[in-house]
Amino acid sequence: MATASIVRCTKCAKNAGTITCEGCSAKFCRRCFDNHRQDLSKELDNIVYEHDMLKQELEKPNENGTHPLLKQIDNWRKESIDKINQLADRCRTDVVKLIDDNKNQLVDRFRKITNTIRDSRSDENYDDRHLKMWITQLKELKDELIKPSNVHVEVDKQQPSWIQKIIVREGSHQQEEVNDSKL
Ligand SMILES: [Zn+2]
Ligand SMILES: [Zn+2]
Repeated sequence: MATASIVRCTKCAKNAGTITCEGCSAKFCRRCFDNHRQDLSKELDNIVYEHDMLKQELEKPNENGTHPLLKQIDNWRKESIDKINQLADRCRTDVVKLIDDNKNQLVDRFRKITNTIRDSRSDENYDDRHLKMWITQLKELKDELIKPSNVHVEVDKQQPSWIQKIIVREGSHQQEEVNDSKL
């Protein structure tokens, strides 16, 4: 005669597991089953709380600039502007130095012209050709002062992606659909 084996409660492993939970298929004794229901009830409370929080978020009016995606754009803007400012500052420093160097050379050249003109004038040692030469030399100095031939500012075409453009894309959000009929 075979002894009917008693299925023990999965929770307390002491009493007989007489009630099966449909959800997790575990077998419980009455007391443990009640506890299990209480646990599920607490879990549901948590879910309802999360649900209510989300509802509040959804009902809140859009505040300007607070969305993470907008923050992302703002960050890109700031980082790009910072990059531009830093490079512009560096280039300005370089140009100021080169212009200064250039000016010092021009002052030297100008002093020589001054001396030549002064001497020629006092000695009355000049003619039309000298006048023409000095006019040319002074014009050259003036041009060089306004537009120094040793400095150029130009776009570096070697580096087209120095500041990378951002774009906004509308993509398919892969929504995981919860199929209620499965439950
Ligand atoms: Zn039990
Ligand atoms: Zn269960």
